[in-house]
Amino acid sequence: MSTNKVQIALVLPDLLGTYGDFGNAVVLEKRMTWRGIPAEIVNIRFGEPVPNSCDIYVVGGGEDTAQTLAVRHLRDHPGMQHAAARGAVILGVCAGIQIFGESFTRADQVTHPGLGLIDSTSHAGGSRAIGEVIATAAGGLFEGLLTGFENHQGRTVLGPSARPLAHVKVGTGNDGSVEGAVQGRILCTYLHGPVLPRNPQIADLLIEWATGTKPAPLDLPAVTRLRTERAKSAGVPL
Ligand code: GLN
Repeated sequence: MSTNKVQIALVLPDLLGTYGDFGNAVVLEKRMTWRGIPAEIVNIRFGEPVPNSCDIYVVGGGEDTAQTLAVRHLRDHPGMQHAAARGAVILGVCAGIQIFGESFTRADQVTHPGLGLIDSTSHAGGSRAIGEVIATAAGGLFEGLLTGFENHQGRTVLGPSARPLAHVKVGTGNDGSVEGAVQGRILCTYLHGPVLPRNPQIADLLIEWATGTKPAPLDLPAVTRLRTERAKSAGVPL
């Protein structure tokens, strides 16, 4: 921990934060403070420097223009990449998975360099992937099903240094077969919802990576109800 609190950087919420993705930072903070682990959210807005001292970085989704502005800003202010190099925990959602890779090709066919945090490339597919997603853990990384919803045109190809987060049962994810990416302590997904309120097991995995300790169980009936309801609406009972 860099201070006496676990610092959660909410990165460029003014550019990258579709579908309430800021809620991922709120869930991390709440799931830590409810267990007596001091934590705080640090907002990093467009135009501001990006500190390299935070423990967890959270990046949300955004459309092509917003993500291009964001990637330029993050390349000019490489605090998050420096933090990644010392093992900080990073969550990237949708535009996040695209800008974390080596490059992404937008729907207008222009290719932009990414941040090089994960071994992947992304390109716009022929159609948008929209709707509920259900996926199962790849490599036993987490328990239960991954649920969320997607709205993106990008398709992502992983290189050998990145592994998928999950296998798609319903929906598209990266390519209709696998969903998300994990490389070291960087975890990416196409899923909104936001993803962490809908998948507290992923929130706790990130907390474990950041604190070095498996967090105590925290069962919230409202979360179980939400997950059951959404999985049912996607046609897959939990
Ligand atoms: N602009 C990207 C796409 O459409 C990401 C969209 C998003 O983050 N929801 O593929």
